[in-house]
Amino acid sequence: MAAGGERAQAVPVLLPYPFAGPLDYAAPPDGEPPPGTIVRVPLRRREVLGVVWDKAGPGRAAPETLRPLAAVAGAPSLPRDLRALIDWLAAYTLAPLGEVLAMALRINPAPPKRRRRAQPFAAPDPDHPGPTLSPDQAAAAAALRDAVRAARFSVTLLEGVTGAGKTEVYFEAIAQTLKAGRQALVLLPEIALSAPWLARFRTRFGADPAVWHSGLGPALRRDTWIAVARAAAPVVVGARSALFLPFSALGLVIVDEEHESAFKQEDGVIYHARDMAVVRGRLAGAPVVLASATPSLESLANAEAGRYRHLLLPARHGGAALPAVAMIDLRRDPPARGRFLAPALIAAISETLARGEQAMLFLNRRGYAPLTLCRACGHRLQCPHCTAWLVAHRRGGRARLLCHHCGYVMDQPSACPACGAAASFTPIGPGVERITEEVADLFPAARHLVMSSDTIANAQAAQAAAAAVLERRVDVIIGTQIVAKGWHFPHLTLVGVVDADLGLAGGDLRAAERCFQLLHQVGGRAGRAGAPGRVLLQSFAPEHPVMQALASGDQAAFLAAEKAARRMGHWPPYGRLAAVIVSAGTAAAADALAHALARAMPAAHGVDLFGPAPAPLALLRGRHRRRLLIKARREVALQTLLRAWLAAVPVPRGAHVVVDIDPMSFL
Ligand SMILES: [Zn+2]
Ligand SMILES: [Zn+2]
Repeated sequence: MAAGGERAQAVPVLLPYPFAGPLDYAAPPDGEPPPGTIVRVPLRRREVLGVVWDKAGPGRAAPETLRPLAAVAGAPSLPRDLRALIDWLAAYTLAPLGEVLAMALRINPAPPKRRRRAQPFAAPDPDHPGPTLSPDQAAAAAALRDAVRAARFSVTLLEGVTGAGKTEVYFEAIAQTLKAGRQALVLLPEIALSAPWLARFRTRFGADPAVWHSGLGPALRRDTWIAVARAAAPVVVGARSALFLPFSALGLVIVDEEHESAFKQEDGVIYHARDMAVVRGRLAGAPVVLASATPSLESLANAEAGRYRHLLLPARHGGAALPAVAMIDLRRDPPARGRFLAPALIAAISETLARGEQAMLFLNRRGYAPLTLCRACGHRLQCPHCTAWLVAHRRGGRARLLCHHCGYVMDQPSACPACGAAASFTPIGPGVERITEEVADLFPAARHLVMSSDTIANAQAAQAAAAAVLERRVDVIIGTQIVAKGWHFPHLTLVGVVDADLGLAGGDLRAAERCFQLLHQVGGRAGRAGAPGRVLLQSFAPEHPVMQALASGDQAAFLAAEKAARRMGHWPPYGRLAAVIVSAGTAAAADALAHALARAMPAAHGVDLFGPAPAPLALLRGRHRRRLLIKARREVALQTLLRAWLAAVPVPRGAHVVVDIDPMSFL
């Protein structure tokens, strides 16, 4: 449209709702706002926020039908690399473009009417005297500083044994970024557990970073968002959603504990924050650091192929030795009847407590017992809405049964609903609460602390728990996977794993890899300071490769075997996977749609279809679920294939199809 014409210029505006692309609006009289401008536009009878987009949507509106847009005064723009990330992520995950934008626009970006603090975040001081680095740490830090100085995209995998001080190493990359006047983003898998991390940051930089997570109040949320956009927040630490902040001078992206499955968002837009962090780094021209003691096979394969630089920290900081790992064969050394701790583990706890040191018992299972069974007829209490047993919880002295998938809760019935027998229910198997009961029985004088998502629900609770352990007000910690992450307890010398085989159950592609990572991380809590650490693994399968790798410390052999098996079958990271989950209100409707999809799947070279099959959680929150798994060679354009395939099959009312690219969970 010629300037000065009487008809308005069409401006593409992306709205944060599940639209496939931008809608057209009329430019204001003073001209077309540039891409990234946040605007207000009418949508049906409402006024909503949107962002001027770079490219128009597929369907253009007739110019005379266009409704006007208005720029939001004083709001920062969405930077080009963030818009590119949104485009990229939508194309990769097959999510509607507007739904991806919604993750970047979960605030009201207009500055508040009343002026507050001009600079809401203290500037971390790169020259603040921090801890002294070991020669290994100093060498790795120098390499990361060089990557930051280069001011272009690169990926470094920083692999260091537990207790090696990886955090202090990548802090030096942050210091270099600050000196260059640029911003750093640090992603942590669980921001509620960030208290120890924040304390280390303060020690190094003498100030706090900006923090970003879903628990921020609206005012702080907006202040943080605007400060990030104006480069007034030099360092941001956050959960995966921090990836979508409008950094205007992004100079470094760090993903800590990069192997953690918590980086995968499993609902709404399904994406892996570690992978998208690499994409954002590439789009922003910034270096990316992935840190872990047990890197994912994906990252290791990228390092081997030369796509990532690989830095190693082979020893613990301060000369501490890695803990000695030993197996307890539960077939030969079983616990007493009705108990779960083997005599060898009980003896080790006694010795540890006698020395005045702390012990940790790990069991990745919340509640009291995973299953409740009628002794008279064998009836098992199941969730009415999900394919899942109800988990017994006894916290607070009340016996209740909970579904961990949908939150359904009931009191334990006094009579069996199947056979009518009274008081016939018995708990089967242990959860952390039951182990706590056993510890209290065995060691009545020991002070214990339970650490699970039931007891550690937020950052304050995490901080209080950490303080209790550090101040030695606790002798025995009993915990779920929460205890594996980032804690540094100098007086903790024994880690006992109650059920080392637990993570190996189920047909998950990554079960062995994940079990190894988790147990290695948990074991890594032992002996981090002066006193030597010890790890005991209770197992019914001590000959399993995962147990052998943990006991021998030969991580490399285990990973090599795992990689060889995956490479042979073209499984990730040597091939690509997508899961298609069909759900419907009835089993018949779910089956019909799943089979229609399977029939319509185009035959393509290097592509295999598995299923449809009932998902392991075949009933979830009252919906029936079927799963199709697509395995493709790396060179296959998987998204193109999926898009054409799914477009060919109509989805009836009440049914849903969800695509999960690179699935991590197979439930
Ligand atoms: Zn019964
Ligand atoms: Zn349920």
